[in-house]
Amino acid sequence: MQKKAELYRGKAKTVYATESSDFLILEFRNDTSALDGQRIEQFDRKGMVNNKFNHFIMNKLEEAGIPTQMERLLSDNEVLVKKLDMVPVECVIRNRAAGSLVKRLGIEEGTLLNPPIFDLFLKDDARHDPMVNESYCETFGWVSKENLAEMKRLSYKANDVLSELFDKAGLILVDFKLEFGLFHGKVVLGDEFSPDGSRLWDKNTLDKMDKDRFRQSLGGLIEAYEEVARRIGVSLD
Ligand code: ADP
Ligand code: UDP
Repeated sequence: MQKKAELYRGKAKTVYATESSDFLILEFRNDTSALDGQRIEQFDRKGMVNNKFNHFIMNKLEEAGIPTQMERLLSDNEVLVKKLDMVPVECVIRNRAAGSLVKRLGIEEGTLLNPPIFDLFLKDDARHDPMVNESYCETFGWVSKENLAEMKRLSYKANDVLSELFDKAGLILVDFKLEFGLFHGKVVLGDEFSPDGSRLWDKNTLDKMDKDRFRQSLGGLIEAYEEVARRIGVSLD
């Protein structure tokens, strides 16, 4: 499948059309952003690591019965995916308190959240991705009640699959963000799952192995991503 017109350049990926209206090519760049794109830096190998990481995770989710965008890897930095009509809302699952939850409620970082929390954020960088809820989605027509219920069900299912996968690799899946879209009317998981959009802590040391290393200027960002990839069995060669 050939790359055609560039359709969109996001903060971390560029989206290209293909000769088929059902498929897109996502190109993972080396850019890493924080503060809704106000801070951007490049890291060698990051595009490749996240592309292969995402491909590995989406295949695991697909095997577990979660419909995903995934078609096939095209190169180190490119993947062929189904073209989804994206829902402009991010779904976040939280197993432990971190990030914006800690800031908002003053809960101690690391507190176990049982049952895990399901949060929704509108994708709108200019407004710093405001938190919304299920009622907003229905009222403003971002996604139907039925499709949102399916997104929530699939998010919790992904949490079950991935919590176990990371646990076996000595890692705690603290929280993560998913984006869904519709493919011929059906809810399908899109975008990416990588340490850019999740929090992963070492079970023993509680070291942060995700994008918080960049947000908090801890250093060793790509080394941490590669270590996580190695532990769960992603081939980076
Ligand atoms: P952002 O838009 O937040 O800066 P990215 O740099 O990751 O993020 O850009 C990727 C864009 O492609 C996002 O807007 C995302 O919603 C969109 N996208 C991801 N997967 C798909 C897909 N399978 N079909 C259509 N659009 C997608
Ligand atoms: N997240 C993301 N994109 C966003 C906002 C959050 O991928 O635009 C991820 C983030 O990496 C974390 C989870 O969603 O794994 C929860 O993020 P949180 O609400 O705590 O916001 P943060 O403080 O990280 O901005």
